Amino acid sequence: MKLALIGFGQAGGKVVDEFLAFDDAIDGGFVESAIAINSATTDLKGLDRVSVENRVLIGQARVKGHGVGADNELGAEIAEANIDELQGAIDRIPVHEIDAFLVVAGMGGGTGSGGAPVLAKHLQRVYTQPVYGLGILPGTDEGGIYTLNAARSFRTFVDQVDNLLVFDNDAWRSAGESVEGGYDRINREIVERFGLLFAAGEVREGDHVAESVVDSSEIINTLSNSGVSTVGYASETVEIDDGLLSSLTADDEFDEGSATNRLTSLVRKATLGRLTLPCDVASADRGLVVASGPPNYLNRKGVERGRQWLEDETGSMEIRGGDYPITVRDEVGTIVLLSGVTDVPRIDQLQEVAIEAQETTADVRATADEDFASLMDTGDELDALF
Ligand code: GDP
Repeated sequence: MKLALIGFGQAGGKVVDEFLAFDDAIDGGFVESAIAINSATTDLKGLDRVSVENRVLIGQARVKGHGVGADNELGAEIAEANIDELQGAIDRIPVHEIDAFLVVAGMGGGTGSGGAPVLAKHLQRVYTQPVYGLGILPGTDEGGIYTLNAARSFRTFVDQVDNLLVFDNDAWRSAGESVEGGYDRINREIVERFGLLFAAGEVREGDHVAESVVDSSEIINTLSNSGVSTVGYASETVEIDDGLLSSLTADDEFDEGSATNRLTSLVRKATLGRLTLPCDVASADRGLVVASGPPNYLNRKGVERGRQWLEDETGSMEIRGGDYPITVRDEVGTIVLLSGVTDVPRIDQLQEVAIEAQETTADVRATADEDFASLMDTGDELDALF
């Protein structure tokens, strides 16, 4: 399906940049437009692929291009105050060509955390296309303020979008990795999963016609129940050498059977492996299974079996399935989108820690006010200048 991608804040911009690279690499055609919005000049300069005219600096009057620190209330205020500039950038999107908006932001910081929900609300009011969010949760080691920001932003963002797709940095960090190197790797993981999902609904003229190709309406229907979604992915490298393919076609029956088994087990691996937001799979409301890879390795039976298995796992009758043939990768993969998940321990934990952080912050502030009053308390013995 065709998307207008809007990255808000540093993480949002970097992930949108990476989506552009991925769309190019797989010749996907799912990115119609890409915009990056930030209150920090350096973050916008650091992007590689978002075109210079689509990099929008906001809040100059307030923060002079230096960003908002991790103050997401200021991030939200700046977005509200600059809504006309944002609309100016959106006016360059050929909106009639897109199937949906995707607003991407890190929830723990300031600009994106505060601004993304403001932008989503605005888009919902002006346009009829669905507005999806891609919210990135901070690592648990980032500290109280990031957790508090994320919990407040998450709560606000989820109400302003048609569906909030979530990626949890905490579940994806590796020990011993530098923060920057870590983000580069994590960003590639993010765009592979969400990129393959959205590219699946974008089969273009001249593409190999799959047996049961996924249509953008199936993605939209799966995401139409609002709430929170998570994505799983599993893949296997396969040979796309011509010689091998012809020898496989000579033995059709074996080929069919092994393709079916491979796809069925990849659906299980994707679902039971690491999700973008770990959760209890049984709590999902709807689901979508997409098999991607060289056309010869895809078959209807494999997807159908995987789909049925997911129905049993989730107890949901609304599990859709289909193919996304892709000739430029030597990988067969399955994407599993679980929508409307409700049993998510990480969100419960995030909210608990955030409430604690909010109370501690209020206590510290009250004590600091008292201490300052007592520091300055000289009775009537000292006169102020004026
Ligand atoms: P903002 O610019 O004020 O919106 O804040 P940032 O986007 O810099 O940071 C917000 C949060 O996003 C951080 O707390 C991190 O958890 C996360 N983050 C920052 N950069 C990246 C990135 O490149 N990739 C990912 N996955 N997360 C990031």
